[in-house]
Amino acid sequence: RIAYVNGRYVPHAEASVHIEDRGYQFADGVYEVCEVMGGRLIDEPRHLARLWRSLDELRIRHPMSEAALKVVLRETVRRNRVREGIVYLQVTRGVARRDHYFPAATVAPAVVVTSRSFDRAKNDVGAEAGVKVITVPENRWPRVDIKSVGLLPNVLVKQQAKEAGAKEAWYVDADGHVTEGGSTNAWIVSADGVLITRPAESGILRGITRSTVADMARDLQIRVEERPFTVAEAKAAKEAFMTAATAIVTPIVAIDGAPVGDGRPGKVALELRRRYHEFAHRGEA
Ligand code: PLP
Repeated sequence: RIAYVNGRYVPHAEASVHIEDRGYQFADGVYEVCEVMGGRLIDEPRHLARLWRSLDELRIRHPMSEAALKVVLRETVRRNRVREGIVYLQVTRGVARRDHYFPAATVAPAVVVTSRSFDRAKNDVGAEAGVKVITVPENRWPRVDIKSVGLLPNVLVKQQAKEAGAKEAWYVDADGHVTEGGSTNAWIVSADGVLITRPAESGILRGITRSTVADMARDLQIRVEERPFTVAEAKAAKEAFMTAATAIVTPIVAIDGAPVGDGRPGKVALELRRRYHEFAHRGEA
């Protein structure tokens, strides 16, 4: 495997960054994960737009032009011969002697890109069977709209979910509303078939898959309501599902051990998942 590190393509096993990289010391950086299907990057324009926004919010300089970055992403995918998999991109504020203040303007941001394949068929079987979620109190900083590499709260709740036999943890805010999952956006389907998901501007990461699924649903004349929902509402919903570049649309069959709907993967979720793949393979996502 090959990784891109600050202007060079190097063997993955030897790829490294400096011990004084600010990403390493302060989690002072951002990232993106983009799905690769049929060798193509899915939803690339939206991922790049979010990357620039995350960088701007943290006042980290753009490391290169969008055109140059696209070349690096493609080249990393190509050199790793990835047809089905992901590409990971990380930009940190760069390397400087440890000091909380921003380093001098001459310090260049550090860029790392990796790409790996996975077994799409095997992955699909697991996802289509549906997954379980647990609920946990929201304990993250208010700027979760920034796709920061500071993911310690997420790491802890994802591990907690795993140890409870679940795939994902849904954060619940002080009002009892679900915000999002540790690495996914949260959705439910009401009894009358309306998709409900929390508004993008309120305590969630604006998921790219979330945006694409919302557009797709509207094209299919499925109503999408962007509003907060409670755990009780989710437990009583007809369906629940989660979205992320790595999960696409994955049905949720249980919340805190209670079955959602009839306890089987929802029809709407599976249909949206199927459509997303179709859409991606036609080159429309
Ligand atoms: N929410 C969080 C906290 C995430 O980490 C992610 C993805 O990693 C998502 C939502 C889903 O975002 P996307 O659809 O852009 O992958």
